[in-house]
Amino acid sequence: MKNYVDITPALDKANDECGVFGIYRNDEALNVVAVTHDALYSLQHRGHISAGITVNENQSFTTVKELGMVSEVFNEKTLKKLPNGKIAVGHVRYTSGGALDRAANQPLVLRYKEGSIAIANNGSITNFPEIRKELERGGSIFQSNSNAEVMAYVIATERIATDNLEDAVLRAMKRLKGAYSTVICAPTRLIGFRDIYGFRPLCVGKIGESYVITSESCVLDTIGGTLIRDVRPGEMVVIDEEGFHSFMLDKKAPKTSLCVFEYVYVARPDSFINNVSVYNARLKAGELLFREYPIEADMVCGVPDSGIIAAEGYARASGIPYGMGFIKNKFLGRNAGTGMDKKKRLLHTKLSALKCNVEGKRVIVIDDSIVRGQTSQHIVNLLRKAGAREIHMLISSPPFIFPCYFGIDISDRENLIANKMSIDEIRREIGADTLGYLSVKSLRETAAGCDIDLCDGCFTKQFSAEVPTTFFVDKYASKIKRS
Ligand code: SF4
Repeated sequence: MKNYVDITPALDKANDECGVFGIYRNDEALNVVAVTHDALYSLQHRGHISAGITVNENQSFTTVKELGMVSEVFNEKTLKKLPNGKIAVGHVRYTSGGALDRAANQPLVLRYKEGSIAIANNGSITNFPEIRKELERGGSIFQSNSNAEVMAYVIATERIATDNLEDAVLRAMKRLKGAYSTVICAPTRLIGFRDIYGFRPLCVGKIGESYVITSESCVLDTIGGTLIRDVRPGEMVVIDEEGFHSFMLDKKAPKTSLCVFEYVYVARPDSFINNVSVYNARLKAGELLFREYPIEADMVCGVPDSGIIAAEGYARASGIPYGMGFIKNKFLGRNAGTGMDKKKRLLHTKLSALKCNVEGKRVIVIDDSIVRGQTSQHIVNLLRKAGAREIHMLISSPPFIFPCYFGIDISDRENLIANKMSIDEIRREIGADTLGYLSVKSLRETAAGCDIDLCDGCFTKQFSAEVPTTFFVDKYASKIKRS
């Protein structure tokens, strides 16, 4: 059994922190373990550090969770440990840490006076230190630094003062600040809830007569289900033997804040989030890049994977042929590369330029974002070495100027290249002939039709929600592996 794992370096990318799934079975023939297992495969892009499933069979909870990808954690033997119960929740986790504590793996099962709950969360609680200190003063002992554990304790303490779990969750939602899209497996029901800003996606669907709550709608396509709707910001949905119930918190955000970066990079292209297709948003980003940067070139290519759709959009809008510029090594495991230069070696072995396609050409290359700049520099180098005549790099989002406190692991401010250099300095640093970022206005246009407002705080420094205190940001967050 592994106690820790060396995680794959982030390769100069922003990373999401988790995917959640829950199912309430109303169809006798449905195997909730198989469905949850399939669902986690569809959420793997949201986190590959750990995976877990908890099943509730006659109010007895069984959990299998471990560090590793879904394919590593679940096999014939581990899946057999899980009974085909009435309710199940699943989780995949990302974290920004190095060596990881297994205690932070989810779902997290908490046994308290009124029974058990299993919780799986996506997001980041911004008043985590204050709440945790308060709970510790009251005698709570924590096993991990996970947000989920703090949330579970808050719900358990509120449950003592309320008549039912629903009221306890609603009261907990008022105490918890920041971003959370959470599922809970309770003794007799499945609960899902989303913070009042709606930072992270969460939707409800059906497979047959059974209900599902999950991070992304692509899961429903995978398991043969249908999307009902998104969970609303500040809403708690409950599924029990009487069916589906919705409760709205009697507190509203001044302005909702769905993470616009979900459309740019995080979510899977076949998902719909709050009415907008992720694929269409990325395509539109490419079209708008052409409107902002109409460059003469021989081909347009995308950096795999999330730059490819925007490149398709640019090619369509410009009439410049779309071509493959890179080959991605799909078989790099998490343990690829060893030693001090692991991060560098991973960066270098992940992509190769397709020389026969780019040699002698004026190439427009589109990527989703630039964090520190090393990846972009490497990409430009690859194209130069492969003989590209001109390299015009376009980015389908604006420059990152601020970290994210709401569930996406974007570097500390001092590591963000756009905080230290002008766009022309970045262009010179990465060695491109042109560098252009999509404007904030156009970025927002990519998600036109979204039924809630968007967060673009990491690009604008404008946040609708309170950002954490300096103490938390500088001294606490760096030590805590959020999950
Ligand atoms: S700050 Fe950026 S990454 Fe974080 S929620 Fe807002 S848009 Fe998303």
